[in-house]
Amino acid sequence: MANVGDRYAQVNARIVQALRAAGRPADAVTLVAVSKTRSAAEVARLHQLGQRVFGESYLQEALPKLDALAGLDLEWHFIGPLQANKTRRVAERFAWVHSVDRLKLAQRLNDQRPPGRPPLNVCLQVNISGEATKAGASPEAVADLAAAIAHLPRLRLRGLMAIPAPSDDLEQARLPYRALRQLAAELGARGLPLDTLSMGMSDDLEAAILEGATHVRVGTALFGPRPPRGALPGATGNQ
Ligand SMILES: *Cc1c(COP(=O)(O)O)cnc(C)c1O
Repeated sequence: MANVGDRYAQVNARIVQALRAAGRPADAVTLVAVSKTRSAAEVARLHQLGQRVFGESYLQEALPKLDALAGLDLEWHFIGPLQANKTRRVAERFAWVHSVDRLKLAQRLNDQRPPGRPPLNVCLQVNISGEATKAGASPEAVADLAAAIAHLPRLRLRGLMAIPAPSDDLEQARLPYRALRQLAAELGARGLPLDTLSMGMSDDLEAAILEGATHVRVGTALFGPRPPRGALPGATGNQ
């Protein structure tokens, strides 16, 4: 089985190749290494190989890892579902939140962002494939939400994020990403300049990069298959 160094090289090669196929600059995508369910030691190992940006989905699991790795120059992105009563630690400890999908969350993150830290970078999560059970604001709600968030001084609205329904077919997989890009362009035309499209994961990062992804969130392709969450120390069913 490939080790993390091989996997890391493979993922970076996939990104470079997709950027080339898209005719985009070689540095146009930031790899967010999704380290949920992974140990602090695994994060430290990937950092040694050159990775600086990491994503976490479950706050309770993430916090001890952030503490253990506080001495390293890491940039932490919160990418998971967020409950309103868990925003404080996220506002205090993370540089980015990709999963803002309602104004109440944004207001709390804004109010709880510590003074002295730069504004918290946020993306609006959009339910771009319209799946009833998925998190994310509806595409119709995004313009008003984005306009309201843009007024919050302790947040910096960077862009949009989506987790569409998976598809094995490249052309099919591109469609929701294209829709997200077009939505961001519409917001730009209304005077809300966005510079971030957080889209694409292990299985479909090529489709997302072809449609303009600036951040791909990759876990499995870097670290291998995830253990079941119940097997993790510190992981409970509730984030
Ligand atoms: C787990 C997760 C990922 C990474 O998924 P992989 O398929 O393992 O690459 C990306 N984004 C979010 C929001 C996630 O929760």
